[in-house]
Amino acid sequence: MTQTAPETNRSGAGAAKERPVVVVRLGEITLKKRNRPFFVRQLGRNIRRALQGIAVRDVEWGPNRILIAPAPDFDWPEASERLRRVFGLRNFSLCQVLPWDVDAIREGVLRMAAERSFESFRISVQRSDKRFPGTSQELERSIGAAVKAASGARVDLSHPEATFHVEIMPGGAYLHSERIEGPGGLPVGVSGRVVSLLSGGIDSPVAAWRTMSRGCQVTFVHFQSFPYLDASSRDKAIALVGLLTRWQYKSRLHVVSFGDVQHQIVASCPPPLRVVLYRRFMLRIAEAIAGREGAEALVTGESLGQVSSQTLSNMATIDRAATLPVLRPLVGRDKEQIIEEARALGTYETSIEPDQDCCTLFVPRNPATHSTVAEAEEAERALDVAALVEQALANVETLEFSWPETAEP
Ligand code: ATP
Ligand code: MG
Repeated sequence: MTQTAPETNRSGAGAAKERPVVVVRLGEITLKKRNRPFFVRQLGRNIRRALQGIAVRDVEWGPNRILIAPAPDFDWPEASERLRRVFGLRNFSLCQVLPWDVDAIREGVLRMAAERSFESFRISVQRSDKRFPGTSQELERSIGAAVKAASGARVDLSHPEATFHVEIMPGGAYLHSERIEGPGGLPVGVSGRVVSLLSGGIDSPVAAWRTMSRGCQVTFVHFQSFPYLDASSRDKAIALVGLLTRWQYKSRLHVVSFGDVQHQIVASCPPPLRVVLYRRFMLRIAEAIAGREGAEALVTGESLGQVSSQTLSNMATIDRAATLPVLRPLVGRDKEQIIEEARALGTYETSIEPDQDCCTLFVPRNPATHSTVAEAEEAERALDVAALVEQALANVETLEFSWPETAEP
């Protein structure tokens, strides 16, 4: 029985012959109401960007999904690798779109089944368009019988080795046998820009990545003590931004020479307060950069109680040096959890390479675990704060990163 497909939908999927399409299912975006078009448009842009250089004919969106139409020479392994890193995406599948016709659907499933080997299987039919004749169960049974006869495999509804999904949509029947998980979250760009304080350590890249996962575009700032220390932390920051750029396509890294500020602090302020004062200056400089970049918050990799500088009172003292909110996405995480995430993200191996971080310069034997804003302000009276910030800002090296193109930073 042949059924004519109803009106072509926004995907442009007509009742044409079998053709591949990547169906992208959206995550939290589907909960948005009025703002949804804005989120979906940004996600569509990000997908196009992530797939740059891969043969794609079109990227279009419907209410709950985005459809990617491959062009000839489409590189599915590379495309799926890249799509795994697009925030906002719940999961995706490479589908075959089949005509609205029971025989054609059965033949399509048989072809897909013939491409792999399995001992047990299941057919799952979803009639999203109820105008398609029959029930889902009838269709599952008749296709299942054909696959069983052709493959010799048994039907297993609870733990099948292979599942063939058929979804009947207005424009055609979408068939796939693999669903690849995306990272979830919100599309980069929908939440505005933040400035992330990126050391060469384990925590700050994870913190930056977490804000990206909530839709932030991240600009990075790294402080180095060159020439007092070597440039190894800068090299690590560059490598880390390179890795993180695969999630947001374009990044900027500002490398600030911080040694002179540190020298002044060491020469004029009480040793136990040094680390807190370093951080206050970092925030001031980062905030000035945020102003130039149009960023609305600062991000650090601090976690509560992880090291002596990361106590509530020290965080409060540090925060008061800036007016922008300071986001600490890792504040409630254990080191173990952060390490696990860094490994999954692929930054861990770079982060553990030895370096000379600016925070190791002139660290006192007993850094304060408790501080007050009054103490910090009192100590800073010995310094020309504005001039030191200006001086540091006059000496910033800015590097641009772009992905997937291989651009030199
Ligand atoms: P990380 O692993 O991110 O370095 P950490 O556990 O070593 O964190 P600290 O050294 O106390 O913690 O640094 C706390 C936060 O201050 C870092 O997560 C980072 O956001 C910021 N920070 C520290 N050093 C630098 C630096 N050299 N450049 C930029 N930001 C820094
Ligand atoms: Mg560190």
